[in-house]
Amino acid sequence: MSNFLEQAKALFPYTQSMRRDFHIHPELGFRELRTGGIVARELEALDIEVTKGIGKTGVVGMLEGAKPGPTLLLRFDMDALPINEETGAEYVSQTPNIMHACGHDGHTAIGLTVAKILNEHKDKLAGNIKFCFQPSEEGNNGEEVGGAEMMMRDGVLDSPKVDMSLSLHLWNEKPLGWVGVAKGPVMAGAEEFKVRIIGKGGHGAIPNQTIDPVVAAANIVTAVQSIVSRNVSPLETAVVSITTIHGGSAFNVIPQEVTLEGTIRTFDKRVRQKVLERFEQIVKGVGESMGCQIEMVTKLLTPALVNDDAVAEKVQQIASQVLSESNLDTAGYLTMGAEDMAFMQEKVPGCYFFIGSNDSSRNLDYGHHHPKFDFDEEALVRGVALMASAAADILT
Ligand SMILES: [Zn+2]
Ligand SMILES: [Zn+2]
Repeated sequence: MSNFLEQAKALFPYTQSMRRDFHIHPELGFRELRTGGIVARELEALDIEVTKGIGKTGVVGMLEGAKPGPTLLLRFDMDALPINEETGAEYVSQTPNIMHACGHDGHTAIGLTVAKILNEHKDKLAGNIKFCFQPSEEGNNGEEVGGAEMMMRDGVLDSPKVDMSLSLHLWNEKPLGWVGVAKGPVMAGAEEFKVRIIGKGGHGAIPNQTIDPVVAAANIVTAVQSIVSRNVSPLETAVVSITTIHGGSAFNVIPQEVTLEGTIRTFDKRVRQKVLERFEQIVKGVGESMGCQIEMVTKLLTPALVNDDAVAEKVQQIASQVLSESNLDTAGYLTMGAEDMAFMQEKVPGCYFFIGSNDSSRNLDYGHHHPKFDFDEEALVRGVALMASAAADILT
């Protein structure tokens, strides 16, 4: 069994300096030119074959093992968020309104360190490692699709064909020391919807001559709450959230229309189907019964992120040995957040795991996407050790 914990510890100064450099210079999705440039430079310095421009700003590195075997893709996301940083850290973002508030600076640094370790170990690898540094995980940022799909369009899963994947997230919902490796679904599938409720406007004092979309909207917002409580089994999970509601312009005018937007989150395909079906029935049924016309668009953002049982079990075994002092959670950790690695894991079996990274004694416990988000850098060592050890073991 491979155990690279000592190497990960020894390389910590490198991982940390890379992470801090990325943190100081954050870049939004599909704009990761500086970050991608550094990634390419570091991989090339190891004599790893680099291809730039996969999925616009994505970078792919190919490491061939000494013996033939399967191709394992290791994925690290590189993008930052449009948030103005308020951490006051010595490595605070130098770019106003852009911040690494999700930890992807750490992921990129982990990826480069894993590349160093596996490159030294390549004589013992049976197969190839495809290092996938992905842009724009946080959304499409003006493009048609997000980073994972964009890289897939450019063939990141082909030539050589990818057989398996590993990926991770530093996780501030959990303390340093916690490591989550689960089989089955780990992150929710996400849908975005927009509903137009079209009525007939008029005077606020003569409602009988109007078809009031405000009253219809209020009824719809209330009625869809019954989907999760009445149509989804108590043992399953789903979220239906209406997050924007717009309509009206004056106190004495009943508007022509009201628009609603929101999101649906599910893990299970059948539950997803059921929730979407009921959502449409209720929105249309309630709206039309009140005389309104309903137009609705539902768009799939990401499918649920589902881990392959065999790959996850392998990572669990490695984690229990390499990170024996950590609190390993294999019980099926679920989060309603969404993650575009789900698109790749729909195509190839993979394991996406979580590395606990908060440290409340040092105030490093703000949630992801908060302007004060920061994590305990000690978590980087665990991420590197588990990723490198699992990769080497899978290709042995
Ligand atoms: Zn995020
Ligand atoms: Zn993230």
